Amino acid sequence: MPENPHSAHRKCGAPDVPESVIVVSRPPRNASLDTKKKINRRTTREYSQRFRHAAQMIFMALNVYLGTQFYLWVRYLEHGGHGIQVSRPPGIEGWLPIVGLMNTAYFVATGRVPAIHPAAMFLFMAFVLISLLFKRAFCSWLCPIGTVSEWLWRAGTRLFGRTFRLAPWIDIPLRGTKYLVLGFFVFSVGALSAAGIRAFMHTPFGLVADVKLLDFFREAGLPVIETLAALVVLSMVVQNFWCRYLCPYGALMGIVSLLSPLKVRRDAQRCIDCGKCARACPSGLAVDRLPQVRSPECIACMRCVASCPVERGLQFAAAPRNAVDPALRWRGRVAGPATTAAAITIVFVGMVLVAQATGHWQTHVLQRIEVELVRHADAWTH
Ligand code: SF4
Ligand code: SF4
Repeated sequence: MPENPHSAHRKCGAPDVPESVIVVSRPPRNASLDTKKKINRRTTREYSQRFRHAAQMIFMALNVYLGTQFYLWVRYLEHGGHGIQVSRPPGIEGWLPIVGLMNTAYFVATGRVPAIHPAAMFLFMAFVLISLLFKRAFCSWLCPIGTVSEWLWRAGTRLFGRTFRLAPWIDIPLRGTKYLVLGFFVFSVGALSAAGIRAFMHTPFGLVADVKLLDFFREAGLPVIETLAALVVLSMVVQNFWCRYLCPYGALMGIVSLLSPLKVRRDAQRCIDCGKCARACPSGLAVDRLPQVRSPECIACMRCVASCPVERGLQFAAAPRNAVDPALRWRGRVAGPATTAAAITIVFVGMVLVAQATGHWQTHVLQRIEVELVRHADAWTH
């Protein structure tokens, strides 16, 4: 939705009382604007990227741990349950978003927690809730694929000196691709009744959906390897290529994030139009022209906030109060990096604890059946 870059002027009331004021001349954006602007230089340190990178590393380490344990569990079962016994980590079901969507649909329709892959549902709900509260923070703070995407474009910047932005005529239709993929999955799941979802989950294919995903990569042929290589190269030259154009999970989180009360908000009274925020934005959003960033493409990475040289020029915040005093206007409204990190952790860990406390975290299957299912995983199709 197009946003009016000038509406913040009308909303914000009187100009702020600056901590340190320097009056400078600046070129007018148009002839009707003042040519004098007060700069409130940032005096407080900005930690958003440190918090976010720490969250990314912790979540990446968690996923490496889960992936390793899951792989060892699969190998243990493939050896007929001999060797070092390893249990299946339910957290691996975070990699089954379609199962999470199906189980959530089943839960909504029946009020019953599904017996197969319940962790997929709880993790799916946790990530949706995070998007509902903190825009697409899941994508830029937690998702391991988002983290790898960021590492790749950083590597590309070092290698080529820059990344590239696609022209609007190709960028806009390409961005629609992820919504089409999401629409396909939502339509497919929506066409199933609760009984149909339950029946699917109890098929051998449904039971070993996680093993099938592992096998997809273990047994990858040349076309899969070439596709992955192309994605790696594209991700090095176009920021967040996968997340921006192809990821249906990101598309869903983006749609949910439209309801988020928290947004990047620009104080037009303080903004000096330096454009640093727009240049820092990996989603290519015109942050320097918007009073608030509503776009579903905003991944709440706060790179724009970190790059802004002005104190409270940009904030990740709820809508300001209608007060003349700027301190009162933003009191209790801003979600700083520590608050955001703590709240994301509470939602994520809280959802896992609820699932564990209610006995809905593990999928309970007899080991002799698991052995048969995993050893013959190749044979199960849907
Ligand atoms: S607007 Fe800011 S928070 Fe949103 S994606 Fe761009 S840089 Fe990140
Ligand atoms: S970084 Fe963006 S919000 Fe901050 S002063 Fe520059 S243009 Fe304005």
